[in-house]
Amino acid sequence: MRRSLKFLLRPTTRQAAALASCLEEHRQLYNAALEHRRTAYAKAGVSIRYGDQSAELKHIRGDDPDGQGRWSFSSQQATLRRLDKAFRAFFDRVKAGRTPGFPRFKGRGRFDTVEWPKDGDGCRWDSQPGHPTATFVRLQGVGHVRVHRHRPVKGRVKTISVKREGSRWYVILSCDEVPAEPLPATGAVAGIDLGVASLVTTSDGTHVANPRHLAATADRLATAQRDLARTKRGSTRRRKAVARVAALHATVRRQRLDHAHKTALALVRDYDMIVHEDLRIANMTRSASGTIEAPGRNVAAKSGLNRSILDAGWGVFLTVLAYKAESAGRELIAVEPRNTSRTCAECGHVAKENRVTQAAFACTACGHAAHADVNAAVNILRAGLALREAAQAA
Ligand SMILES: [Zn+2]
Repeated sequence: MRRSLKFLLRPTTRQAAALASCLEEHRQLYNAALEHRRTAYAKAGVSIRYGDQSAELKHIRGDDPDGQGRWSFSSQQATLRRLDKAFRAFFDRVKAGRTPGFPRFKGRGRFDTVEWPKDGDGCRWDSQPGHPTATFVRLQGVGHVRVHRHRPVKGRVKTISVKREGSRWYVILSCDEVPAEPLPATGAVAGIDLGVASLVTTSDGTHVANPRHLAATADRLATAQRDLARTKRGSTRRRKAVARVAALHATVRRQRLDHAHKTALALVRDYDMIVHEDLRIANMTRSASGTIEAPGRNVAAKSGLNRSILDAGWGVFLTVLAYKAESAGRELIAVEPRNTSRTCAECGHVAKENRVTQAAFACTACGHAAHADVNAAVNILRAGLALREAAQAA
């Protein structure tokens, strides 16, 4: 299995400055290579390829030993490949008959990652293995940077990336051959319904709420965005407001991911098989008129953003759940979300009148009453079991 792990870096002041230079000069390399491709194409109709640009790296480095020459050849190649990928995507879309935007120059703040494609080549994970208390990553031109390694690294480190998020720096490892850690069978299966009031509701009737602090952060974010909209371009207040919005977005992402990990872990521990709705279809069919319970003050202004933040949590959650299920040897099944919320789990009667309110389900045919999300989760489980049975029969 392949996994990626992200750790906070704790650079010294000098290292932080070097990381900033490293990122900035990779950005300049990217923009210069883009400029080169653009002019060659515009003036001579020539397409420059990755191989051409990679071959020029040697000269670029030789001409600028205190700048470009300081960094890893391989990380610079990775940056050129990134540009190449942008061009390929551009030409693919052109070929498909669409009119895509030409690959763009990356402004400061629009280029946040440098990748070293191979551990040991201009970079080294765990560069001071003998150190009694800390873990380090060595990056060419930067030095041995201390890593806040909050969990063990399993498998073989393949690529190493450094990413800037606001004022923080992170290292992202992509690891191969990560061993699976199967969990003992429980004999239990579950369907799960994804929602706004509760992130997850299981067919057993358990509700996992979206964390309260996430809603609080969403409120603060809404306020910060409103403040931002009132500032003038180029002003100091605007710069500060932008930083605040970015920091709150990062907080939302962290909180969401953290909650997704906890929720998914509990599910894979409890169930051998988990069935969920296929989100790609669910997003199209789900009505936009959900209610958000206890949203705090200023509901109307904030509910849109609040909802979108909670909605976006589904994708993150399912990604994490898929990882954990694979690692634990659990079965994860996606089913079509058709009518799951208006079908009676007891008698199968389908009617939109069955759904009394957002939370209450009452069957107009047999009288079965249940929490609407639990009723949906039972239908989802049933659809998953039917799908599995069909697959086994085939
Ligand atoms: Zn019924």
